[in-house]
Amino acid sequence: MSNITRFAPSPTGYIHLGNLRSAIYPYLIAKQSKDGKYILRIEDTDQARYVAGATDLIKETLVWLGLNWDEGIDKGGEHGPYYQSERRDIYHEYARKLIEKGRAYADPTSPEQINEYRQADNVAKKPFLYRNHRPANTPTWEPGIPLRFKSEPKVVSWHDEVMGDMSTGPEVMDDIILIKADGLPTYNFAHIVDDYLMEVTHIVRGVEYLSSMPNYLAIYEALGINHPKFVSLPHVLATTGNKKLSKRDGAKSAVDYRDDGVLPEAMLNYLACLGWNDGTEQEIYSMDELKKAFSIDRIQTSGARFDEVKLLWQNGQWIRKIFDEQGCDALYERTISRDRASVESNKENPSRNSLINFWPEEAMDYPEEYRKKVLSIIYDRLKVLSDLREYTKYFFVDPEIDLEFLQSNKFIKKLSETEQRDLLSATIDKLSAISDDDWTANNLQDALNDLLEETSQKPAQLFSLIRIALSYASFSPALHLTMEVLGRNTTLARLNATRSAVVNDL
Ligand code: GLU
Repeated sequence: MSNITRFAPSPTGYIHLGNLRSAIYPYLIAKQSKDGKYILRIEDTDQARYVAGATDLIKETLVWLGLNWDEGIDKGGEHGPYYQSERRDIYHEYARKLIEKGRAYADPTSPEQINEYRQADNVAKKPFLYRNHRPANTPTWEPGIPLRFKSEPKVVSWHDEVMGDMSTGPEVMDDIILIKADGLPTYNFAHIVDDYLMEVTHIVRGVEYLSSMPNYLAIYEALGINHPKFVSLPHVLATTGNKKLSKRDGAKSAVDYRDDGVLPEAMLNYLACLGWNDGTEQEIYSMDELKKAFSIDRIQTSGARFDEVKLLWQNGQWIRKIFDEQGCDALYERTISRDRASVESNKENPSRNSLINFWPEEAMDYPEEYRKKVLSIIYDRLKVLSDLREYTKYFFVDPEIDLEFLQSNKFIKKLSETEQRDLLSATIDKLSAISDDDWTANNLQDALNDLLEETSQKPAQLFSLIRIALSYASFSPALHLTMEVLGRNTTLARLNATRSAVVNDL
């Protein structure tokens, strides 16, 4: 049997990282079976929480991560429409089935009255259960009146693919609302009807839905339909403490990370492995590898902690992997624009199409070939692509001379200013002897080695001096590579400028 799964977000804002596994795992489960299908359904029946633009952001995130849906909004499919707000008649049809079976009733009780019941139960120290206050007379149901499920409390047992065998007592079953006064269904009812009609085989969602399971199971039973398999994902915990990762605590969205230069491969890799592992030590997985290795039975039952340091480490690994396996041009493409796919998915929303460029502004005045050279010597230091803005600035603009910065360096500190001047002079002499044509990394490496010998300096001292004179940055790629890319003129001009500053300071 093919696996049919869905991602069913509510358009209430961006999808934060804690919820993204509910998009990734069902995708993997669907793709693991022949002819499996991954559906994107938008659960927009809670109009009070609706946020304009949220659906576009959801689509953009999925496309960016490579989670392309087979059926759903924009794509269509046999079981549409895929916006719940457009499926009102379908929910009403199923609501009527329950009314006919005597398992749903129109509830004329006012919200104020319900509040009174609740307060009275509180005072009496009884748990509030709506079914204890069922109205004696119920009108014929028509839109405008909420429709409630008529529960038949009992012990319920079920199996969760992650949490194992579960069971609850009758006290948790209640008369939950199926259709609200505005005629739209609640999540509790709508998802059951939709998953059934869309032939979903696995529901993958957060553990927060577990407590409602007894009510859901009662509805499946009352409708006389089979339920899909349940795959409940433990919470993603904030980096510290025992709280869930949440937007309120500043959890960023996937697109925020994308805009900082996290690669989709790394985000997918990181999130898929958050609370799941295949039992090996492997840490870097491509989508194809995940499709092969993923299995529901290795999802952890306890919460997984979000660790940005690990995410960024994995991103660094992916930056290297792309450079090593696909070449500099492929990595360069990622630094200059958003993934084409996401631009493509956003045609109708051009403001989000503005190309993300991870280079310092001044870099754009230089030829592409030069930027690629810079990338090829710095890529293995990057954690996020936007590190380029800080790490490569001096390849495009002469750095400001800052003797304080130079002389506070822990190696340079050990040299007197006269020694600094003499070392810079020796370096300038040595390098001036190399012609423009011979200005290659190899020749520069040889020259630096000669200099070390001739000056009897420690590498850390001599090279820190040259490096800072060239970049005034906290670190740079290997010196011979940096000098090759900067070129002869710039290298010599910068060494001279610092030398003059040191001399003036003497
Ligand atoms: N609309 C629900 C949410 O955004 C989806 C839960 C589910 O996957 O069934 O949380």
